[in-house]
Amino acid sequence: MIHLVGDKDERMSCTGCRWIGAETEITIPGFCPKCQKAGNFNLLHCDMRFTQKELKILWTLFGDVPINDQDEIEEDFLDFTKGTDRFDVWHWFDARTHGVVNALLGLTTF
Ligand SMILES: [Zn+2]
Repeated sequence: MIHLVGDKDERMSCTGCRWIGAETEITIPGFCPKCQKAGNFNLLHCDMRFTQKELKILWTLFGDVPINDQDEIEEDFLDFTKGTDRFDVWHWFDARTHGVVNALLGLTTF
């Protein structure tokens, strides 16, 4: 994925099919890449409710966010702004995935 300087890569969802992805995945402006309909897109926010499946997709998307050597994110992600400690984002995921993120990271074992 190409990240242009100053390009805001928002995470959004389609209100029709509940597709979740990055703005850069929308190849035809205004059209959902999954259901191909003229989409009504929602920007994603931290206080929205997500299913476990959606959180997994978001976790994958978060994997594309560059991290600097101070463990800070280098791009905005949801409501987390550039410079946020990556562990704050992990905690956000962890609180919603019942420790699944820690397990994914190998920090805990079941
Ligand atoms: Zn859609």
